[in-house]
Amino acid sequence: MGYNVAVDGPAGAGKSTIAKAVAKKLNLIYVDTGAMYRAIALFMLREGVDLSDREAIVRKCPQADVTIRYEDGVQVVLLNGENVNPFLRTEEVGETASVISPIPEVRRNMVALQKELAAHSDCIMDGRDIGTCVLPDAQLKIYLTASSQVRAQRRYDELAAKGEECDFRKIKADIEDRDYRDMHREVSPLKQAEDAVVVDTSDMTVEEVIARITGLCESGGFSGAASGNPARPAEES
Ligand code: C5P
Repeated sequence: MGYNVAVDGPAGAGKSTIAKAVAKKLNLIYVDTGAMYRAIALFMLREGVDLSDREAIVRKCPQADVTIRYEDGVQVVLLNGENVNPFLRTEEVGETASVISPIPEVRRNMVALQKELAAHSDCIMDGRDIGTCVLPDAQLKIYLTASSQVRAQRRYDELAAKGEECDFRKIKADIEDRDYRDMHREVSPLKQAEDAVVVDTSDMTVEEVIARITGLCESGGFSGAASGNPARPAEES
């Protein structure tokens, strides 16, 4: 196993922004597991599967082949061979991912793929069940969180900056619904691993969070990814 950092936490806590930046600083591979569930969600949406019909989702699962490739250190998600990165970050796909992700048949292959990626590289992986289920032996586990008010405000600002119309109350309600689903599902619910370090980002800047996590990696004995991390070209530090 390589050097593995597990980052879990609720939607909008800043996991991907932070994990991406830490990966770049420490020359780790960044594994975005939410993107994998989003790819399955996209498949179900494209196929017009009735999302309230659990059996229909389970029957369709074997037709969705999700694989990962790295291009210049950037994770590319392939759905049946197609690069679907441009389609994964919509609200609809995120919501659908949270509806289908409790189904064990959806999770099984994703977890196997994630374990496989971590076994072969030094990585920082984010998601909901990484420290508790996917990488229970990770050298460092972080539980990244922030109040739902702050997370909703960040999302609102992001959408407003893009000129998109948005309703703060709806954004906050959606975030809280998603938290509830992720935390109360039967299989691999979102929860803090017992040995995770909690980082509450409500009153921290992005730079402060990056510095804190980089510091935790270094004080935990991490002194840089092995040269030749297979998926990541040597980069600036
Ligand atoms: O992190 P992101 O918003 O991309 O994740 C989308 C959804 O995928 C989450 O709301 C969650 O339901 C699901 N997910 C999961 N396990 C993970 C990562 C994401 O169940 N490891």
